[in-house]
Amino acid sequence: MEFLRPTTWAEALAAKAVRPEAVPIQGGTDVMVEINFDVHRPPALLDLNQVAELATWSREGGAYRVGAGLPYAKIIEELGGVLPGLAQAARTVGSPQIRNRGTVGGNLGAASPAGDSHPPLLAAGAAVEVESRERGVRMIPAHEFYLGVKRSALQADELIRAVHVEAAGGPQYFSKVGTRNAMVIAVCSFALALHPRERRVGTGIGSAAPTPRRALEAEDFLARELDWDARLDSALLRRFGELCAQAASPIDDVRGTADYRRHAIAVMARRTLTWAWNDYRKVRAA
Ligand SMILES: Cc1cc2nc3c(=O)[nH]c(=O)nc-3n(C[C@H](O)[C@H](O)[C@H](O)COP(=O)(O)OP(=O)(O)OC[C@H]3O[C@@H](n4cnc5c(N)ncnc54)[C@H](O)[C@@H]3O)c2cc1C
Repeated sequence: MEFLRPTTWAEALAAKAVRPEAVPIQGGTDVMVEINFDVHRPPALLDLNQVAELATWSREGGAYRVGAGLPYAKIIEELGGVLPGLAQAARTVGSPQIRNRGTVGGNLGAASPAGDSHPPLLAAGAAVEVESRERGVRMIPAHEFYLGVKRSALQADELIRAVHVEAAGGPQYFSKVGTRNAMVIAVCSFALALHPRERRVGTGIGSAAPTPRRALEAEDFLARELDWDARLDSALLRRFGELCAQAASPIDDVRGTADYRRHAIAVMARRTLTWAWNDYRKVRAA
């Protein structure tokens, strides 16, 4: 197996252009497991760890550009205040060791329906910055990034450079059901972001469909029905939960049944909206 080690972004893009079959490796917490278990034996690995800029973040206007190689631990430590949904999801990933190595770029690269960073990226309306040497930069909205189970819109000659996420304009929550409390792949998960300026609520469903996805009808329902100056109505909350559950298309598998997942999505949708709404009302009342 060849081991390619670019030291700049331009070198990394050149290597991917010449060797599209080379598998990028950042934290290695997915790639190394697959190699160790002989799931894949790629002809070449493209190690991105020497490309220092990937492990940084910056602020661009109202948005944060989170480098594909920024580990979860840094997202929690440095961006928890401005990207609370993503940071909450990051806190639930694996163990401290996995959070020190694993990255959002790697989560996006793997495109597993169970990846924890996807629901908050969907709820916040994030965009994925990808690039190839030949065709330049593409900004892919998160909701167009996921195409199928472990399949994304990333082309063979492209690399993920960063993800762009607006600073939270309102409360955000992430909720995850697992078969235990830590070190667990989501049975299903749900993220919610209030966007008070636009009077809109964003959603993200994880591990309950072939891809992470938004609950679009549920979002439209709240855009029409939610009274931003009132208490949360219990019938509205119930309907929101039902619409989120309907947006899922889960399967039965070793981690849980489809029925349980649908039920849990409805519960998490109601809970996260209630938590976010209570926070929002508290801030307004202060
Ligand atoms: C013990 C354990 C527990 C885990 N727990 C969780 C969990 O709770 N939640 C969760 O979501 N995940 C979990 N994971 C999976 C994994 O940690 C995450 O998916 C993590 O985000 C992967 O990041 P990484 O940097 O290690 O990716 P890598 O393993 O380096 O790469 C993952 C994939 O992304 C591709 N890739 C990486 N960087 C780029 C790039 N810049 N451009 C294009 N493609 C790229 C790789 O080729 C590969 O296909 C766990 C893994 C382990 C081993």
